[in-house]
Amino acid sequence: MRPVAAPETQPPRAELKAAVELYLALHRAPELSGAEHSTAALLTDRLTALGLTVHPGLAGTPSFLAELRNGPGPTVLLRTELDALPVTEATGLPYASAVPGVMHACGHDLHAAAATGAAARLAATRADWQGRLLLLGQSAEETLTGARALADDGLYERFGRPDAVLAQHAAPLPAGTLAHATGGPLMAGSRTLEAVLHGRGGHAATPHLAADPLLMAASAVVRLHTLTARETAPAEGAVLTVGTLHAGTRANVIPDRATLSLGLRAFTEAALDRLQEAVRRVLAAESEAAAAPGPPELTVTARSPVLTPDPDLTASLRAVHAEHLGAGRVLAAVPSPATEDLTHLTRLADGTRIPLAYWMLGTTPAATWRAATAEGRTVPANHASDFAPDLRQALPAGITALTAAARHLFADGPHAVGAFPPSPEAAP
Ligand SMILES: [Zn+2]
Ligand SMILES: [Zn+2]
Repeated sequence: MRPVAAPETQPPRAELKAAVELYLALHRAPELSGAEHSTAALLTDRLTALGLTVHPGLAGTPSFLAELRNGPGPTVLLRTELDALPVTEATGLPYASAVPGVMHACGHDLHAAAATGAAARLAATRADWQGRLLLLGQSAEETLTGARALADDGLYERFGRPDAVLAQHAAPLPAGTLAHATGGPLMAGSRTLEAVLHGRGGHAATPHLAADPLLMAASAVVRLHTLTARETAPAEGAVLTVGTLHAGTRANVIPDRATLSLGLRAFTEAALDRLQEAVRRVLAAESEAAAAPGPPELTVTARSPVLTPDPDLTASLRAVHAEHLGAGRVLAAVPSPATEDLTHLTRLADGTRIPLAYWMLGTTPAATWRAATAEGRTVPANHASDFAPDLRQALPAGITALTAAARHLFADGPHAVGAFPPSPEAAP
């Protein structure tokens, strides 16, 4: 076992300055899911300059893997997302998005700058640790498709399986704090469903000759919302939202189809399975009740498993973070109905699980937090147009949290992160 370095609470000034500049550049130039080409280029240029070897364009997407081989030892993967959202920024910040209608409203720019800052710190201190550092820049998290694409494309067959995966996510908590799961799930699992209700079109004057899919859909939307109120236990934390409903083209025509898209979230796969089956049942029953000419179609277009961090790894990293940041800045996370697709890269198809540490990174400025608490208001949260992380607090905390976690795993060796055999060497 190698000695653990003295706690480091902040990256050195020059490295922090570089991380801030990277963040500002990313924040000004957000890109939507699957189109993060400039984002990936900005990050890979910096990682290459730090001495990492970059493998770009994974799975035919902007996703990349940067690698730093530093002798024998565990492989630790840091993951950041790359994508932004179709949101118009309303923060009024001098470095606000320069791309109309697109904004880093989920904080993925903060994750990318923090992960790159951690890579810089680890590269600068490489004489003090051994192992293989991987930094994964993942495209298309917001659409819950990027991680799955990488898994299906054989990311680990090509580059070896990591001994642990580390990630963090910006959250509306006091800036500079971290919040870890307390043994159970941290984020819900989700399914995205697309439904088509088939009707029989006709003239608006003769509805008795038609089967109106618009009415079927309207009735189904009301009925679907009773599923979480009446068919799932409150403790399952199930959420169902119909996000789109499209039918018809003009007032005097009864259309022949209606389409719905809906999202399901819950903290167990069993609850998601039950909800999905209940959605199918309600749509089929509404079609039947309306004498539709055919049954509805229901397709799962995206899914993300429940995110449960490894309890042992989380417990050890909570202690590491308390040592580096102070115990008062390490909080207990409340499970969130938000979702993440990273589990596609930690719960593998062959049934094995790669230990995952995942924590929330507080981003709310202290003054905003105090005022909201005093007035009983909520603070601006992820996906909102006024979401504005407190860079001075959150970025150094995010860099230190990732760096300290990785150093802990490198220092303690593979036994610290599970009973996996050494990772195979990456293909050239
Ligand atoms: Zn998001
Ligand atoms: Zn996000």
